[in-house]
Amino acid sequence: MTVELDLTGSVALVTGAGRGIGRAIALGLAAAGADVAVNDFADEAACAAVVADIEALGRKGLVVMADVSDEEQVNAMVERVEAELGPLSVVVNNAGITRDNVVMMMDPADFDSVIATHLRGTFLVSKAAARKMFRRRSGCIINLSSVVGRRGNAGQANYAAAKAGIIGLTKSLAKELGARGVRVNAIAPGYIDTPMTQALPEETRKLIVDATPLKSIGTTDDVALAVVFLASPQARFVTGVTLPIDGGLGI
Ligand code: NAD
Repeated sequence: MTVELDLTGSVALVTGAGRGIGRAIALGLAAAGADVAVNDFADEAACAAVVADIEALGRKGLVVMADVSDEEQVNAMVERVEAELGPLSVVVNNAGITRDNVVMMMDPADFDSVIATHLRGTFLVSKAAARKMFRRRSGCIINLSSVVGRRGNAGQANYAAAKAGIIGLTKSLAKELGARGVRVNAIAPGYIDTPMTQALPEETRKLIVDATPLKSIGTTDDVALAVVFLASPQARFVTGVTLPIDGGLGI
């Protein structure tokens, strides 16, 4: 049995990888041996810095700026990644935003933009990649859901609906692609220390930590390591799961 996770020869695309969890995932995949395309729609300089870190690990990196909710941009991005790095074998749908409010006060535009980024974005990137992977009979897709998608959260109905939708999308795609050797899984992080959660009030952060059985905040590396496992050949018999990385918060 080989225990070391080795992605040498893989080409990965990580969306929303300019910072936070996506950045850690891109670096984790590179540390395991993959060449990695770094997507974001904001802060090209931050993406270039991630690519420099990937190159420092001895792997190839590529910045691909695109809005994941835009079909044309997504299709062009996937074509460019394959032209410059080679056949895509790992796709991580990580790009995300929040527009929190209680439903009674929520602007429909904020509902739509959260659904468009998370759910439509995951659909569009998965569709473009799946068409390639299906033909090659190999590949894997990993989608970022959330503990909030499993449990709901007051003030985050748009985000919870998108993240729950991602779980349904993941299971359906796993069934569509399994016979062709393509695996599709999701990860449901709990409270992870990133710019997204640093924006929360201190009191809310404390409440979440208190509710977490392991009584701590997760790190971006906690999530990245789970992605590397799901992307690795060692996870060859794993598809359609939503893996919580949440310190027990989802129990
Ligand atoms: P973050 O805000 O730090 O990073 C998200 C990145 O996505 C940003 O760089 C942003 O520019 C990019 N992005 C947003 N919309 C985009 C679009 N349309 N096209 C391309 N890029 C886009 O967030 P994070 O905390 O690192 O979260 C990453 C993922 O993990 C998200 O899907 C989030 O919902 C999920 N998640 C985070 C936590 C947490 O505690 N931080 C918990 C559960 C799930």
